[in-house]
Amino acid sequence: MKPILIVGGGIAGLQAANILHQNNTDFILFEKQGSLGGRVSSTNKDGFILDRGFQVLQTSYPEVQRSLDLTALNLHFFESGAMIKDQLFFNPLRRPFELFSSDILTFRDVFSLARIWFRLQGDVPALDGNKQTTQELIESYSFSDRFKNEFLIPFFQGVFLQETLSQPASLFFYYLHQFLYGNAAIPAEGMQAIPDQMAASLPADKLQLNQEIVAFDAKSITMASGDRIEGNAVILAVDLPVAAKLFGLQVPEILGSRTFYFSTKKTVVKPALLRLVGEQHLLHFTCLTDVNKGLAPTGKDLYSATSLYNSSEKEVKEALEKQLPGQKLTYIHSFDIPHSLQKVDAYEAIKKAANDIILAGDYLEFPSLQGALSSGRKAAEEILARS
Ligand SMILES: Cc1cc2nc3c(=O)[nH]c(=O)nc-3n(C[C@H](O)[C@H](O)[C@H](O)COP(=O)(O)OP(=O)(O)OC[C@H]3O[C@@H](n4cnc5c(N)ncnc54)[C@H](O)[C@@H]3O)c2cc1C
Repeated sequence: MKPILIVGGGIAGLQAANILHQNNTDFILFEKQGSLGGRVSSTNKDGFILDRGFQVLQTSYPEVQRSLDLTALNLHFFESGAMIKDQLFFNPLRRPFELFSSDILTFRDVFSLARIWFRLQGDVPALDGNKQTTQELIESYSFSDRFKNEFLIPFFQGVFLQETLSQPASLFFYYLHQFLYGNAAIPAEGMQAIPDQMAASLPADKLQLNQEIVAFDAKSITMASGDRIEGNAVILAVDLPVAAKLFGLQVPEILGSRTFYFSTKKTVVKPALLRLVGEQHLLHFTCLTDVNKGLAPTGKDLYSATSLYNSSEKEVKEALEKQLPGQKLTYIHSFDIPHSLQKVDAYEAIKKAANDIILAGDYLEFPSLQGALSSGRKAAEEILARS
């Protein structure tokens, strides 16, 4: 039997390959880049391990638990909460007695949070079942301006990598549930360890790197070299802008983000928390070596700083220096990620155009490792169900 042809070696494509392989179904995966993982990758620079964009692994995602060997990833965990200016704000379900230890939270906020928590206990609306945006939802609760503007909005701007919070409120509930009940972690060797683990269980000769696919139909693909390969079916596991382009559709506008890395001399270990700023040139930052000291050479701290805008190194550095008075920051590297998180409602046209081509990719579900893993599994299962 001819192999299943998988186009794209991000998390979705790797997941599809793994499920097919576990079910003794032959496949070949074609990846445009020279490495696997797509939007999940890490670079080693001068002894610092730098993820391409600040990302965390939410261990409570069902597909994460089902598909990854979390023990082998040697995870380092964040504390559940965030830091706002100098105030620590911990997950109230983990540290209820510290609820009022910061003056950012008023009784009004606690009341509104309790209402949201009760709503989370019921059926959280299906991801596409609620047209209310996250911003509208937040406004509909009577949060204090301070809690809303200094915590909720910057926190979810960081999650969605989006200023306007136009993502559906149902997605807000979904993520909130994961944050409250799960743990955010980074593998000891950086996020790249995730695709590395997924690729390790696949036969190396089935993973073809540096192969851009320029055309396809339901049973064949054409490579940039002009070579055409026939298969039993095609799984298109590329990102949303590429999928739209390949189907000749308008490429939806998707906000990008920038992550900058700086080092400082090692200081005392602080709580491993995301620090929210919510300014134009600095959405949030974190001291990654408080989470995992192995990400930097001995004696150094590693900071990541994320901005949504076309901020320059100088602008981000100045904004970060204000947050870390007295510390000398050395710029290491930055990553410009043009299409960071891909909108959940932008795929209908692609789905229609796909016909017999099987789609995978986070944009089919929601932008996250869970979305990518789950879409990859479903694509493979669709093929398995045919045979
Ligand atoms: C900055 C940032 C922060 C994030 N933070 C988090 C987070 O904290 N938690 C979380 O769960 N998720 C996070 N995500 C989202 C998560 O990384 C993605 O949802 C997931 O990696 C998407 O995987 P995918 O396989 O669907 O797509 P991609 O990773 O985009 O994979 C698509 C692959 O297809 C390849 N390809 C494209 N065109 C072709 C072609 N013509 N021929 C062959 N190959 C092709 C690409 O090179 C790529 O490898 C973040 C993403 C970014 C960018």
